[in-house]
Amino acid sequence: MTSSPRSDTETHLRRSLSALSLHLRQAPEAMRPDVPRFVSYDQLRRTDGTVVGRKKVILMSGGCSVPTCTMCPFTNENNYGLHRAPGALLAQVDAVLARTTGEPDYSMLALYNDGSFFAPREIPVDVRLAIAERVAAAGVTHLVVESLPQFVTGKALGPFVQRLGPVALEIGVGLQSSDDLVRETLVNTRITRPVFERALAAMREHGVVPKIYLMIKPPFLTDGEAITDVVQSVAYVRALGVDGVTLCPTRVSRNTVAWQLYENGQYQPPNLWTVVEAVRRAHEAAAVRVACINLRGSDFESVFPDSCPDCADGIVDALLRYSETGDPADLPTSCGCRPALAAVPLDHGVIVERGLRALAAAGTQVPA
Ligand code: SF4
Ligand SMILES: [Zn+2]
Repeated sequence: MTSSPRSDTETHLRRSLSALSLHLRQAPEAMRPDVPRFVSYDQLRRTDGTVVGRKKVILMSGGCSVPTCTMCPFTNENNYGLHRAPGALLAQVDAVLARTTGEPDYSMLALYNDGSFFAPREIPVDVRLAIAERVAAAGVTHLVVESLPQFVTGKALGPFVQRLGPVALEIGVGLQSSDDLVRETLVNTRITRPVFERALAAMREHGVVPKIYLMIKPPFLTDGEAITDVVQSVAYVRALGVDGVTLCPTRVSRNTVAWQLYENGQYQPPNLWTVVEAVRRAHEAAAVRVACINLRGSDFESVFPDSCPDCADGIVDALLRYSETGDPADLPTSCGCRPALAAVPLDHGVIVERGLRALAAAGTQVPA
C-alpha cells in the first residue's frame, strides 16, 4: 500500500481540523494534584491461556504533546496546558510500585500517561530510564505503556529495554486506521504508515510486543464506511504480523471536534450493532478485543455508542465476553432495532466533501 498525495481540499480539511482540535482543548482552572488519576486491578487472560494480575495506572501528566486528534478526551483529565513537572512523574511511579498491605497481587503493570511514554517532551529520557530501573526492581514481570510510533525508535527502545532487564515490554500504539485519509485527516493523528512500520520493526528487534488500537467510526464516516475501515485496518496490521488488536468504538467527549460536531447534529457515535458487525467481520482475520471504556464509562458527560433500551446492555455484555473468550459465538445476533448494515467502500473525494460540509454546518469557527 502506498500513500496517495493529498488533494488541496483534503489538506484544507486536515489543517482546519488540527487548528480546531487544539483550539477546543482547555487547561484545567487549577493544577490537579500529582497523584495518578486512575488506578485499577484486574485479571487478564493472555493469548497463551495464562491469567495474570494487572495493575492499571494513569499517571497525572501534562498530557499529550501532539493533541490534534478529533475525538481524544484525555486533555480533559490531566494538567494539559499547565506547567509540566517531570520529577513528579517519577514520584508517582515510586508510589505506584510501593506494595501496600492488602493490595491485590499483580505481575503486570500498565502505566499510561495520557500520551506518548517515549515522547521526551512528555517524559524526559532520564525520567523514563529511571522508571525502567524502578519497575525492574519492583518484581513486575510485564510492563505496558503507550506511545505514538514516531517516538518508538531503536535509539529510544535500546537503553530502556536494557534497564528493564527480564521485564517483558508491551507498547500500545493508537494507529486508529490504516487508511491515510481516515487516520491523518479525520482522526487527525500524526502517524504515517512508514513511521508506524518502522516502529514495529524496532519493537521486533528489541523483543517488544506491539498492541495496536483501531477506531470504530471516527468523525465524518458513516456506519457502513466504518465497517470497511475496520476490516481493512485489521487486515493491514495482520499482514504486518501483529496479533494484538483492540477496537475502540468512538465515544464523544467535551472539548473535542467530535463533541462540536455531535452538538450540531453532524456526528453520531457508532450504533452498537455497527460495533458488533465490525467485530464479526474483523474476526475473520483475527480475534480482536473491544475497549470497554469506550462502551460504558463512569463519565456521564460523554456520549457512548448505543442501540435501543432492549438490547444495548446485552450487546455491551456480549462484547466484553467476546473480548475475554475470543469466541464469535458470544456475539449477539439480533434485535428489532438492528439497522441494515452494509460495508460501504471509502470514497475519499466524497468523504472530504462531507467533512467540509459538516464543519460548515456545525458553524465551527476554525482559528486562522
Ligand atoms: S495522540 Fe493519543 S493522546 Fe494524543 S490526542 Fe491523539 S489519541 Fe489523544
Ligand atoms: Zn435493540
